[in-house]
Amino acid sequence: MKKRLVIAIDGPAGSGKSTTAKLLAKRLGYNYIDTGAMYRAVTLFWLRKNLPLAEEYVCNLLPEISISFTNSSGELRILLNGEDVSEEIRLPKVTEFVSPISTYKCVREFLVEQQRKIGESGGVVMDGRDIGTVVFPNADLKIYLVASVEERVRRRLLELQQKGVVISPEEVRKQIVERDIIDSTREHSPLRKAADAIEIDTSNLTIEEQVERIYQLAIERINK
Ligand code: C5P
Repeated sequence: MKKRLVIAIDGPAGSGKSTTAKLLAKRLGYNYIDTGAMYRAVTLFWLRKNLPLAEEYVCNLLPEISISFTNSSGELRILLNGEDVSEEIRLPKVTEFVSPISTYKCVREFLVEQQRKIGESGGVVMDGRDIGTVVFPNADLKIYLVASVEERVRRRLLELQQKGVVISPEEVRKQIVERDIIDSTREHSPLRKAADAIEIDTSNLTIEEQVERIYQLAIERINK
């Protein structure tokens, strides 16, 4: 039987992780897991409670939170206590608070444990910030995607506009830069490239080219 890999795709917001990971998983017949969506679901749960932004409040909410993924006509959907929140977690309000909430140790431990369980038997493409460094330090293939800030703003803006969200380029840029800073300077599991990750700059690549490159690397690992 062919080896079923654990593929970790990390990188900053807008670097092309989710689009690439989704298509790569489809091509390999693997499951795609969007770990950012899990941090967003926790953030949404906290927002709905109208509580102050403080670690102890968020930690206390965790036992009430159950997150799962489901497939609907080939699309990955995320369920928060059984409710499909796939659209709501993309709203700017959630984006605004997700990075501060992702710095909390209790939140990271809570989600990392679940991510490890989901991926333990392989055949998974997982994207996030700490997949290759913390969640699966022994992943079979680690990719670190980067892109210029201008390109990342352009992509995020397009994505939000397609969803009907009204937001200025300046605001998108501000959010991306702020999230980059919080994500890469936090104490627990900061965003960084694993020593054995392969870095790919996607600024001037098409989605097809990104997927093809990683697909070839995956095939090499499978045939090894
Ligand atoms: O990937 P996405 O932009 O949806 O992630 C939202 C936020 O969740 C990130 O900015 C980061 O703060 C957090 N995150 C994280 N670790 C992950 C995935 C996401 O801290 N593995």
